[in-house]
Amino acid sequence: MARLPLLAGNWKMNPASLDQALTLAGAVEAAAAGWREGVEVAVFPPFPWLLPVHEQRRPESLRLGAQNCHWADAGAFTGEVAPSMLRGWCDWVILGHSERRTLFGETDEAVARKARSVIDAGLGALICVGEREDEHVAGRTDEIVGGQLARDLAKLTPADAARLVIAYEPVWAIGTGRSADAAHAGPVMDRCRAGVAAALGEAAAAGVRILYGGSVKAANVAEYVSLESCDGCLVGGASLLAEEFATMIEVVAARGLEAKR
Ligand code: PEP
Repeated sequence: MARLPLLAGNWKMNPASLDQALTLAGAVEAAAAGWREGVEVAVFPPFPWLLPVHEQRRPESLRLGAQNCHWADAGAFTGEVAPSMLRGWCDWVILGHSERRTLFGETDEAVARKARSVIDAGLGALICVGEREDEHVAGRTDEIVGGQLARDLAKLTPADAARLVIAYEPVWAIGTGRSADAAHAGPVMDRCRAGVAAALGEAAAAGVRILYGGSVKAANVAEYVSLESCDGCLVGGASLLAEEFATMIEVVAARGLEAKR
């Protein structure tokens, strides 16, 4: 099955103003519009910018996602947002990002519950997995990533695979400028697909997109998307730079168009 590459920009808690968010989203959409056959482009703004960006965008050119949500549909959860509240405004929700796991205590059990609710709400779940530096140095990458995937996918079924994307993001590569080299990332992404197959079956796993994330920029994105195992990238810091991200869109789209030939 041909998988359309996905280039996703995680804006984190940026940019500072709504004007900047709308300008950035407009520039990304303009850059993406001509490349729809080769790449799906998504941005993940902070919650307050999500609705205005949605109102400005054309959904066929620019997909939109949230950076987090709760698993419940409603209730006494101060500060939280339900997946059902996001329906109609966005397409995806990032779950299990390392910053949420490390800084906000998001567990695999929470990721699994959220993934179930996000998909039940008709949205897609972009689940991040990856090992910490000490685990990397100890040669435990496969064990860590395999364990996270098994736990994170525990509440999903093969029918959910169409709404699932996995991002392999080594924690030591996020925001550090130390991107993982392709010789490391490629085999781990293969193991991610094997992990999805173990949880949801081979047929389901064949259609799931596996992304790489961790200090991706225009200068190194080709390294990842030219790997057979890689279906795109999740980009943090460089997704805030409109021209840089536009170059990445072109590189990833070229790979997507080539794969179709
Ligand atoms: C991320 O936040 O998911 C990420 C990969 O960040 P960066 O590209 O800045 O390393």
